Formats: sequence, C-alpha cells, structure tokens
Amino acid sequence: MNTICIMCPMGCPLNIERVGDEIKVTGNTCKRGEIYGKAEFTHPVRVVTTLVKLSDGSVASCKSCLPVPKERVADVVEGIGKLTLPADVRIGDIFKVGVKSLDVDIAITGTPASA
Ligand code: SF4
Repeated sequence: MNTICIMCPMGCPLNIERVGDEIKVTGNTCKRGEIYGKAEFTHPVRVVTTLVKLSDGSVASCKSCLPVPKERVADVVEGIGKLTLPADVRIGDIFKVGVKSLDVDIAITGTPASA
C-alpha cells in the first residue's frame, strides 16, 4: 500500500506492507510516520469536518471530537445532516450525533456570528 503521511507538512511518501507477522513502513522520515502508516494499514480513521444546519436556516462548521473509522465517515456525515441545532450555538459546543453502533460527538468550530 502506498500513501502520503499527513502528520506534518513534509508529506513523506509511505510504502506499507505486511512482512510475516509485522507491518513494515518505509519512506517515513520520523517515528510519527511509522505510527501513522501502521494505523492506516490496519484501521484507518478520520476526523469528520462538515457543516451542520441551524434552526434559523444558517449553518455552522463542525468536526467530530474524535476520529471515526474511515468506512463510517459517510454514516457520520449523514447523521450530522439530520441534525438541526439551535441558532445560538457557540464555538466549542458539543452535540451527540445519532449514528448506528457508533458514539459520535461533534464540536462546533465556526458559527455565522464568528465568520
Ligand atoms: S514521516 Fe514524519 S516527517 Fe514525514 S510527513 Fe510524517 S510526520 Fe512528517
């Protein structure tokens, strides 16, 4: 598997492969790249960033408080899409998202008032 390390702006190209019982990462410049590469190979996760509707018809930006399994990102975005939050949300407010078999909280990262 080939990918790019996203842990810093250097963007090292990583090659990740299973060698026997071990996962071998090459192309990384530092240990963070090795850790990232192994996680990407075994169980990739992503922080979800998107917009959420507010009751006055505007939107606020938000992100998941924790990374979610990459294969569930679409489910989380769909769950966020079903929310309508109070118009007076503030940056840092936390809300639960209804996603089957996942416990997901989102944090407000930007509001119409903060733009
Ligand atoms: S391997 Fe290290 S230096 Fe390279 S992008 Fe990842 S964090 Fe940055």
